[in-house]
Amino acid sequence: MLTDMHIAVIGGDARQLEVIRKLIELDAKISLVGFDQLDHGFAGATKYQIHEVDFSQIDAIILPVRGVNHEGQIDTIFSNEKVYLKEEMLGSTPEYCTVYSGISNDYLNMLVQNTNRKLIQLFERDDVAIYNSIPTVEGTIMLAIQHTDFTIHGSNVAVLGLGRVGMSVARTFAALGANVKVGARKSQHLARITEMALTPFHLDRLANEISNIDICINTIPYQVLTANVISKMPSHSLIIDLASKPGGTDFRYAEKRGIKAMLAPSLPGIVAPKTAGQIVANVLCELLSEDLDKRKGNQP
Ligand code: NAP
Repeated sequence: MLTDMHIAVIGGDARQLEVIRKLIELDAKISLVGFDQLDHGFAGATKYQIHEVDFSQIDAIILPVRGVNHEGQIDTIFSNEKVYLKEEMLGSTPEYCTVYSGISNDYLNMLVQNTNRKLIQLFERDDVAIYNSIPTVEGTIMLAIQHTDFTIHGSNVAVLGLGRVGMSVARTFAALGANVKVGARKSQHLARITEMALTPFHLDRLANEISNIDICINTIPYQVLTANVISKMPSHSLIIDLASKPGGTDFRYAEKRGIKAMLAPSLPGIVAPKTAGQIVANVLCELLSEDLDKRKGNQP
């Protein structure tokens, strides 16, 4: 239980509603910022404007999956209020106050460093990233179906990267009957691809491996689908780039060549916000409980 813990949930999309629900279940005291247009009222949670929050009483701050932008602004889907996280806010929290965010950036890193507060990036954790790969794959399948006039079954699919998303994508497209080859650079990844009964290739050979591909799914956050590589792809092929912004594709060149290429961020939040929210909520509540236990244990 999170009884006596005072948590500020600042901004976010439908995923955050699952987090709020779970926090209420666990009896936390919740201050919501950026939810004033949400019709649904949460018993046990109070809506505030950011300037009304008494940060000296806040034990933990929960930011949306995307964290803050480069000026500290936080996405607030359920409000028109422009919400910024500022150094003086964080600096006035108790020293043990932890900030939880999906991902971070230079601004957020600087803020926690200057105020000496702890930051947990939930999406750096393997468990969150692996669970989250499930709705990501479902979103990828949706895009593949929407943007092609052929079946996934029997098509030639290249997956770039064998990380947490790449592995789930490759396995699922193969299960749907696609001929899947996977590009990676580490020998252990090439071995794993072989073990999965898929076709491995080294990324150095990407330009040679792509000439008969119908769908290319990139998960590498680095420009791998360069103009040189795209120039070797068939004109009917579809590129779905899952890597975080700006992706790993030379989109300008793809457009020039008439190849359909799309950056597809935040698929879990689009295709399965409830599940995606529950994934974050479950891990978050475990971390908050541990935090609370530690603090109680440390008290004299
Ligand atoms: P990950 O586990 O870190 O995997 C990344 C993969 O990229 C690894 O196979 C890594 O190989 C490879 N890689 C990284 N830099 C490389 C480089 N310079 N050259 C060649 N290979 C490189 O990450 P993940 O959890 O799978 O996520 C992959 C991407 O998808 C991230 O950008 C993430 O933010 C994004 N994502 C998007 C969605 C969405 O909805 N679109 C959802 C979840 C995640 P090595 O081990 O050899 O470095």
